[in-house]
Amino acid sequence: NADVAMYYAKGEGRNNYQFYTPAMNERAFDRLTLENALRRALDNNELFIHYQPQVNLESGEMVGVEALARWQHPERGLLSAGNFIPLAEETGQVILIGEWVLRRACEQHCEWLQAGLPPLRMAVNLSGLQFRQEGLLFLLRDVIEKTGIDPAYLELEVTESILMQNTEQARERVQELKDLGVTLAVDDFGTGYSSLSYLKNFPVKTLKIDQSFIRNVAEDADSMAITDAIIAMAHSLGMRVIAEGVEKDEQLNYLRRQNCDEVQGFLFSRPVAPEVIDEHLRRQAEGVLLPDQPLLAAA
Ligand code: C2E
Ligand code: MG
Ligand code: MG
Ligand code: MG
Repeated sequence: NADVAMYYAKGEGRNNYQFYTPAMNERAFDRLTLENALRRALDNNELFIHYQPQVNLESGEMVGVEALARWQHPERGLLSAGNFIPLAEETGQVILIGEWVLRRACEQHCEWLQAGLPPLRMAVNLSGLQFRQEGLLFLLRDVIEKTGIDPAYLELEVTESILMQNTEQARERVQELKDLGVTLAVDDFGTGYSSLSYLKNFPVKTLKIDQSFIRNVAEDADSMAITDAIIAMAHSLGMRVIAEGVEKDEQLNYLRRQNCDEVQGFLFSRPVAPEVIDEHLRRQAEGVLLPDQPLLAAA
């Protein structure tokens, strides 16, 4: 399909991806200009979502996607979340943006189902502000009711550092979310300073190993030791492990040997437009796995 290919090509290429640092953001943008532009972005429909596949290592199938916010800025072009979410967190705009992403992602999940495609777990990032926000449960109930999504398919991603702040309140919040029927993932795990065993106090379903460990995983002894420990501990606590930022075969092979459950990264797919996910799902039904070839089946 030519339209899909076009969309894909215009998406974020490898060279488009930027690591975000607050200092870079300061240099790149006039903050006030960006803040004002972001305020209008929602009204002008400049925000949209790319979805990145999460692949089960046993079956080789895409079992979930992570919703990642994108901004088609009128002058600056396509911006990844890393380029504007940190500012939106500072200004509080992430509350409105996050609400829109949550609603749209859940609608998308249901649209795929209505199109006869198999259900995909939908992972949505929550910033600290959203996680702590008074109205979060009200919002989630409303989104679940209005979109009709089965909450078991909605996974909320919260970073380790957010979870470890005000731990008693965080623990209560995690329990409230669990009671709603949604699942929770700890994002960027390993970058904070929490002890693994501390996690048993939190009813969290999924651990996402941070990209910084996966980057060197087949080469660097420390990264391997940390990765192995995270996988072993998570499994002993009955949690699912997803490795983030998998780009190379060597990383994939290592993670498979260590019984990592799922992987996410450019090796399988970049974050892509929803139409591209449709295509993946349709091909998958015919037995063709990401990345467009039976890579895992052959291994
Ligand atoms: P994250 O949740 O840890 O998302 C993973 C980031 O790594 C994404 O960047 C993704 O594009 C990138 N990535 C995925 N695979 C690879 C890979 O193989 N190699 C490399 N080098 N990078 C990879 P992105 O989209 O710029 O998002 C950055 C962060 O912004 C996210 O980190 C998340 O914390 C936040 N974010 C994104 N969307 C939302 C949103 O809707 N709401 C909130 N509150 N935060 C969001
Ligand atoms: Mg995430
Ligand atoms: Mg992450
Ligand atoms: Mg991150």
